[in-house]
Amino acid sequence: HATLVPKAIDSSWRHAITLKNDSVNAIVHLASEDASGVLADGPLHKVAIAVKDNICTSSMPTTCSSHMLEDFRSPYNATVVRLLTEAGADLIGKTNLDEFGMGSLNTYSIHGPVVNPFQLANQNESWEMREKRAAGGSSGGSAAAVAADMCYAALGTDTGGSIRLPASYCGVTGFKPSYGLISRYGVVSFADSLDCVGVIAKTTKRVRRVAEAIMAPDPRDPTSASHTLRSNASSHSPPLSAAHLKGLRVGVPEEYFPSELDTSVITPTRRVLSALESLGATIVSVSLPSTPYALSAYYVIACAEASSNLARYDGVEYGLNVTAQRTRSGDTAMRSYAATRSQGFGAEVRKRILLGTYALRADAFDNYFQQALRVRQLVRDDFNKTFRSPDVRFMDSPSTAAPDRPDVNIIVHPTAIQPAPLIYDDVQKKGLDAYVQDVLTVPASLAGLPALSIRGGDTDGWPIGVTIVGQWGSDDMVLRVGEMVD
Ligand code: GLN
Repeated sequence: HATLVPKAIDSSWRHAITLKNDSVNAIVHLASEDASGVLADGPLHKVAIAVKDNICTSSMPTTCSSHMLEDFRSPYNATVVRLLTEAGADLIGKTNLDEFGMGSLNTYSIHGPVVNPFQLANQNESWEMREKRAAGGSSGGSAAAVAADMCYAALGTDTGGSIRLPASYCGVTGFKPSYGLISRYGVVSFADSLDCVGVIAKTTKRVRRVAEAIMAPDPRDPTSASHTLRSNASSHSPPLSAAHLKGLRVGVPEEYFPSELDTSVITPTRRVLSALESLGATIVSVSLPSTPYALSAYYVIACAEASSNLARYDGVEYGLNVTAQRTRSGDTAMRSYAATRSQGFGAEVRKRILLGTYALRADAFDNYFQQALRVRQLVRDDFNKTFRSPDVRFMDSPSTAAPDRPDVNIIVHPTAIQPAPLIYDDVQKKGLDAYVQDVLTVPASLAGLPALSIRGGDTDGWPIGVTIVGQWGSDDMVLRVGEMVD
């Protein structure tokens, strides 16, 4: 048993929360200072960590930023929360997000939007005076809490970019691990074939420290990767020297520079590539030809899975209780479900449930869901033809080896197509405009690959993220490369 020592919250984090949270709106529930009284004496002893509000905590609410779960209190802790507590972490509060993780700007939330707190160290103007830009979503509260020094690190979730995009917009480091390496037990499902828990912090070193405490197989999550699979994958990663990156091959995919890309992201991307090159890595141009279809496939699959996952919020077992209205109007069960859903879910969530339900209808299934699954396989094939090491999850599938394969160890690309957008402009933007923000992050999600967004540089006073992607299970290598260039 770990020794328990008295809990003492580091006052500097608290000070930043008191000073900035009213304007940034990153933290939506603050743990009371004497919540648990003691902290375990583990590797994260007294490390202040915030947790996205779609991850279950028994000592704090879990709202998913939805009216549907406004009064929900989980009877148990998610595995990641339990592991952090056992490692001695000080869980300081829950962070804002887009409702159920659906969004790219953290503006769809019952708690209100998150305001990007990024500020250059040498900037004289008060950050409150700056134009209000989005923190990115859906883990906007987690990225903003880290950027504003309200905590050492924060947990986020990433289904199609929700850790990497806000990390890029807020100028911090965001890590989406390989699918299945961190347990999803107790994490509210959005699209479970894509959902990953990950870590946001100011440096890759800090990200690794927290990630290592939670990257463990979990019998409670049927999609959690086994020990065997994990060690099999790492045996394929090349041994990296601590001093240089000689022998490392880095691919730059030509399809990741689409017409929507803002030119401001080019210089920071080049900066990271030059840093890798000066450490001895070889940069090669690669092609991932299915990339342009990934976004549409992602939205079909994510909405379809969401429509199934969110069916549980019918007001009977889960969700908003509308019993009063039901009794009054003497409605049928169907009508009472409809009342719960139309009052409990916001417009974006309702839209996605409808789109997903449509995509799964018998007469639309072949044209939408089935096609999207085909594209997902093409995206995986693209990566497998490009990486030197195989995807050990699918070792039985026929080899895609081609004579001219580029054999890269990692892929590097801009995280987002632009720096953080203006908050109020983009709240007005509807539908596809917002979805385009995810065009560069969804391929790694479809393929379940590890992806780390680091701050590549700044353009016009706003940060630009650059992403390092590796083959499934090469998380350690991806983090080591990140540590050498961030
Ligand atoms: N922005 C994407 C979406 O709205 C991704 C969200 C996420 O990763 N949770 O679906």
